[in-house]
Amino acid sequence: MSAPADDRRERLIELYREVSGCTRCPLHAERTKVVFGAGNADAGLIFVGEAPGAEEDRQGLPFVGRAGQLLNRMLEEIGLKREDVFIANILKSRPPGNRDPQPEEIEACWPYLERQIELIEPRVIATLGNFATKKITGSSTGITRVRGTPQVHTLGGRTVFVFPLLHPAAALRTPSLVETLREDFAKLPALLEEPLPELEGGDAVEDGPPAADSAPDDSQLDLFA
Ligand code: URA
Repeated sequence: MSAPADDRRERLIELYREVSGCTRCPLHAERTKVVFGAGNADAGLIFVGEAPGAEEDRQGLPFVGRAGQLLNRMLEEIGLKREDVFIANILKSRPPGNRDPQPEEIEACWPYLERQIELIEPRVIATLGNFATKKITGSSTGITRVRGTPQVHTLGGRTVFVFPLLHPAAALRTPSLVETLREDFAKLPALLEEPLPELEGGDAVEDGPPAADSAPDDSQLDLFA
């Protein structure tokens, strides 16, 4: 049984405070701000990217640079706004020089994303790019082979559709991929309406231990509509 949306939102805010002081991996030492994620705390659709870049690190918000602008455009084209969805990343802290996330950083951060999924209770998790797709699907198959086709997984204790998408930054680097991204985005509205199949057996990922206490910075608490 699902908890009321207000309770889940309160718990998401508590989680935000916890993550704000996270020191589970060395990335905490160099970050300016934790990028917890932002948007609707009761969203049916969560986007999961890779890790904050320079602008995200500065603002403490996900996808606020050029890739974010493309994401906003894609959302608009299917009649959605950022406030309708929740946007998060595999890593909550910026890797120096935007290098790839390291396996131990991904593991350290994973329980936070799992708890976000548990609390927001989305129907669809759209993974942006290889890192999010491989971690969330539990498969090493690359994004170009799996993009645009929904999968069913158990995450945060729930059955969800996982919908792999190209990372918007990849589309910025290779403009012909913008159309591919657009075609895949166009499938999202119907997927959001589709009934979730029951999953037999499942492939749930175990919850991590609770994170350490932290000194909260409440400046982002109005993020969660
Ligand atoms: N790229 C990502 O994967 N995440 C962000 O938040 C911004 C750029």
